[in-house]
Amino acid sequence: MLLKDSEFGEVIVRKSPLSRGVRFSVSTSGRLQMSVPKYTSDFLIKRFLNSNREVIREKLPLKDPSSQRARDYQKKLLMKKAKEYLPYRLEYYAKLYGYSYDKCRLTHANTRWGSCSSNKTISLNIGLMNVPEILRDYVILHELAHLNHMDHSKAFWAEVGLHDKNYKMHEKKLKMFSPGV
Ligand SMILES: [Zn+2]
Repeated sequence: MLLKDSEFGEVIVRKSPLSRGVRFSVSTSGRLQMSVPKYTSDFLIKRFLNSNREVIREKLPLKDPSSQRARDYQKKLLMKKAKEYLPYRLEYYAKLYGYSYDKCRLTHANTRWGSCSSNKTISLNIGLMNVPEILRDYVILHELAHLNHMDHSKAFWAEVGLHDKNYKMHEKKLKMFSPGV
């Protein structure tokens, strides 16, 4: 649930049967996040928040409410762009090189550009829309090669190299960008 707070903006409250105490953290959008035990009342949640204001202010790198919203908007735009591009680019390369996959999923994980699961679902990070096309293509070719090799073995890299001769350079250049949106 979301709690509106005059100082911190929207606060994300997660009620979990596993959490024993109250924990504060920062969400990827820079919002304050609270995890509380499952049956904590709204009254108690607000009281915890109020009694911890000072610590939160000092310790947590929160973004102000207007930049939280700006980020939401950026992400929405990026998702729209990604939807209109990545699945088609993936399909294009799959057809070109004779791969078959089951599904294309768009993600916005902070740590990886893409992944390929054993049930042949390829996930691509929408942050790819912010990197040069040649690196974007490299990630797609990398994930397609995982359909045949679920590891980073020599055979895997040999297959990537068949379709992208400069894959080593591309892998290196990609490290200059961050997948987080
Ligand atoms: Zn890989």
